[in-house]
Amino acid sequence: MDTIGKRWQAIKARIEAAALDAGRAPDSVSLLAVSKAHPASAIREAYALGQRQFGENYLQEALAKQEELQGLDIEWHFIGPIQSNKTQPIARHFDWVHSVDRAKIADRLNAARGPGQPALQVCIQVNVSGEDSKSGTSAADAIALADHIRQLPKLRLRGLMAIPAPTHDPQEQQSQFRAVRDIYDSLQSSGHHLDTLSMGMSEDFPAAVQEGATIVRVGSAIFGARIKPTTDQPT
Ligand SMILES: *Cc1c(COP(=O)(O)O)cnc(C)c1O
Repeated sequence: MDTIGKRWQAIKARIEAAALDAGRAPDSVSLLAVSKAHPASAIREAYALGQRQFGENYLQEALAKQEELQGLDIEWHFIGPIQSNKTQPIARHFDWVHSVDRAKIADRLNAARGPGQPALQVCIQVNVSGEDSKSGTSAADAIALADHIRQLPKLRLRGLMAIPAPTHDPQEQQSQFRAVRDIYDSLQSSGHHLDTLSMGMSEDFPAAVQEGATIVRVGSAIFGARIKPTTDQPT
């Protein structure tokens, strides 16, 4: 089997092990394969193994790959920062958007979703590391934003997404994921019916699963190192 295949199987096994370790059902965590900066051929390889959910950060790059992969039964997730002038193609060409962090973006996605399309599945991106440079709403603003999204007919709020500050300290990873989980719980208590915690990447997904992640977003551990710079680049 090729490299992507071996890595993908190893990640699937580690996710299952992490879930069991946390006393959770192995199928309660799904793997979003983050294919940014990798070609359509890499997506095809993962698809052949059974992977169906792919995450992309950069709009133009994603649209080109979607064009190339037409006809495959892929669920596309937009996970990158959103500029307001890009909301229309994002709303039209993706099934999920994980990175909604303000009302204006939610409104624009709602308005742009096609009349014949089902509701766009969305997560609110929360910032739990308190770094000014990171996107995401504060814990304090998450409830107001969730209340706002609930009024929008073409959006369906599924939960929260977070990208905690990178650290190799598993305890620090865990406490950041727990902070996301706390916001999730407070939204549930205020009447929102959520089922998604999108957290955990190549370096820290076991800690995220420990704290309740239902979607882990794994890129380099499946597809290898990225060549293009990818940090907080506008779409
Ligand atoms: C790039 C990216 C990932 C995947 O990161 P890896 O470290 O390659 O697993 C996950 N989530 C978001 C939002 C990303 O931008």
